[in-house]
Amino acid sequence: MTDRFSTLISAEDIAARVRALGQEIARDYAGQPLVLVCVLKGSFVFTADLARAIDGSVRIEFLGVQSYGEGTESSGVVQITQDLTRTVEHEHVLLVEDIVDTGLTIAHLLELFRTRKPASVKVCALLHKPARTRVAVAIDYLGFTIEDKFVVGYGLDFNQRHRNLPFIGVVDQP
Ligand code: 5GP
Repeated sequence: MTDRFSTLISAEDIAARVRALGQEIARDYAGQPLVLVCVLKGSFVFTADLARAIDGSVRIEFLGVQSYGEGTESSGVVQITQDLTRTVEHEHVLLVEDIVDTGLTIAHLLELFRTRKPASVKVCALLHKPARTRVAVAIDYLGFTIEDKFVVGYGLDFNQRHRNLPFIGVVDQP
């Protein structure tokens, strides 16, 4: 059966917000080199667009993280499936997340990165679902706040599919 979607955030609205975030980040780091850490897999589309919206020196690293099984509930267990290729010691790090839901994943990653002695570590998330918070984490750069709905598209999956949708959508119930 083919899934159908309702658009929650259009491709145009995402593009405008990502451009604004990129400008804000470029202004804040004011020419200081920055490491964007793309938290896989869901952030690959967001990171690609965000990186191009930042007018400044950026290095991109990828971090493989698994926090969900096949369902839609966070297990609370965060497993690193792929680590960075280079150290981030003394560098400014920006963790790029697709969505902060319970906050467990990003809280765990912040703790992990602080042990790696970067010059600074901040968080950029495209989406935030405050209704689901279990650990409160400061999101330094945020795209959109959304309701408690399971979303797909723009990198986000449902059982590994629909990451290629250009917009953020909600799966319609049959
Ligand atoms: P947290 O640890 O904050 O509960 O969950 C973070 C991760 O759960 C996200 O990086 C994402 O992979 C997944 N996640 C949370 N909410 C959603 C959602 O609505 N849709 C999808 N596709 N993934 C989600």
